[in-house]
Amino acid sequence: MLSIGRPSLFEDNRRLRAVREAVGDEFEIMTDGNQGFSISEAIRRARMLEDYNIAWFEEPLPADDVLQHSRLANGTSVPIAIGESIYSLSQFKDYLVAGACSIIQVDVARIGGISPWLKVAHLAEAFNVTVCPHFLMELHLPLVCAIPNAPWLEYIPQLDLITEAGIDIENGIARPSHSPGLGIKWDWDAISSNVENGSSYNITEA
Ligand SMILES: [Mg+2]
Repeated sequence: MLSIGRPSLFEDNRRLRAVREAVGDEFEIMTDGNQGFSISEAIRRARMLEDYNIAWFEEPLPADDVLQHSRLANGTSVPIAIGESIYSLSQFKDYLVAGACSIIQVDVARIGGISPWLKVAHLAEAFNVTVCPHFLMELHLPLVCAIPNAPWLEYIPQLDLITEAGIDIENGIARPSHSPGLGIKWDWDAISSNVENGSSYNITEA
């Protein structure tokens, strides 16, 4: 994942070219605009990204702006990804009906749990749109295994300090646990000590 959004388009171009040269033609590169662009600048950056065969351009515009995402998606060959900042089924419906994205990054914690997550995933399937969930890979792994339209799982090992075992990943393929439920083995001692110490979990340690 590469953030896009240096003040100069040409600087983003240089950075992306260096990454593409370093990883080779067949490595999937995702880019993230973090809602930072106007529509005119998002179009310019998307046109620049077209030369690099990237997997997607994430949140190029303010997350609630369906109209301008639709305009952008229809004006570039780069797949547009949205969803980590979307909190309801109806907002996803608006995006899909408008043809404003081709990757859905629905987050099980932000959408309100497993049932609404599955509703969004199935809705995306009806529109032939891919799901790549945002964050919480331990929770999302069994969920992406339950739907046909989710080829990717975002790798963020943020829960390693409070789980007894990370998820099983080999050669870039994540495999779900055979344990009951979600298959997450919480390290309750680590959780307790964090609570007792009054400390919040520090993602930089993950
Ligand atoms: Mg993002």
